[in-house]
Amino acid sequence: MNEKVYLNGTYFERNDALVSVFDRGFLFSDAVYEVTAVIKGFLVDWESHLSRLKNSLKEINLSFEMQEKEIFSIQKKLIDVNKIDEGLVYIQITRGVGHRDFNFEEDHFEPTIVIFTQEKKILNTNKAEKGIKIVTFDEMRWKRRDIKTTQLLASSLAKTEASKRGKDDCWFIEDGFITEGSSSNAFIINDNGEVITRELSPKILGGITRSSVLEFCKKNNLNFRESGFTKIEAKYACEAFITSATNFVVPVIEIDGHKIGKGVVGNYVKEIQKLYFNEIQKRLS
Ligand code: PMP
Repeated sequence: MNEKVYLNGTYFERNDALVSVFDRGFLFSDAVYEVTAVIKGFLVDWESHLSRLKNSLKEINLSFEMQEKEIFSIQKKLIDVNKIDEGLVYIQITRGVGHRDFNFEEDHFEPTIVIFTQEKKILNTNKAEKGIKIVTFDEMRWKRRDIKTTQLLASSLAKTEASKRGKDDCWFIEDGFITEGSSSNAFIINDNGEVITRELSPKILGGITRSSVLEFCKKNNLNFRESGFTKIEAKYACEAFITSATNFVVPVIEIDGHKIGKGVVGNYVKEIQKLYFNEIQKRLS
């Protein structure tokens, strides 16, 4: 596949972009990342993703000097040379290569920075139109889910298990309340049309799509509430959906084998999908 990948200042062919086995990203998942949607060659909510990336870096004490403008121009260049009309741009920053030691305080590291693209259909997908079926699992990730690290094994195992069971994805449950999806934020809508999603805290990743959806709800006078909800509330909700930069707004029509509402995509979610799409079109960069 003829595709360029940026690695530490150089644009490589995909298969030539190689990182040391002593990189702490490989040894310890000592790395943070962001994924940003690309629509018609433009980045969606780029500033918000950059700002969350800076926060993740700060939270793991990783100092990284690159200018924002430079990151933006590398991402734009890759979108251009890899001819990405609709898809994703990933940026991953690890603490770098060093002596294998849990304690990283003594070593001086040069961070590793990788930026790559992925062609992917995000709009008008089968899932966005027909909805997805999910299963719930006990929360099994670490306690700082607000930091977007590359420790994605628990989510990856959970998503694979959901797929083995013939479902599309999973929601995690902790202390009786849904936290979020394997790689998305979880929402329900009750009979009054009130949109409910978990409040921000270290228990969930503060999704950029989540916050845009809430902003658009506010702007368009749709009621919403940020609070925890249980599996029972989700089962008997009127509608449900997930949000992420990789899929935008996707309806959830079944949870643990139980239909949500009528078991088909409902009107509230369709309205939110439409709102989201119309609003983000106005702010592509
Ligand atoms: N929660 C988790 C655990 C995720 O991995 C993601 C996707 N990155 C999200 C929520 C959604 O965040 P965003 O809307 O910024 O993609």
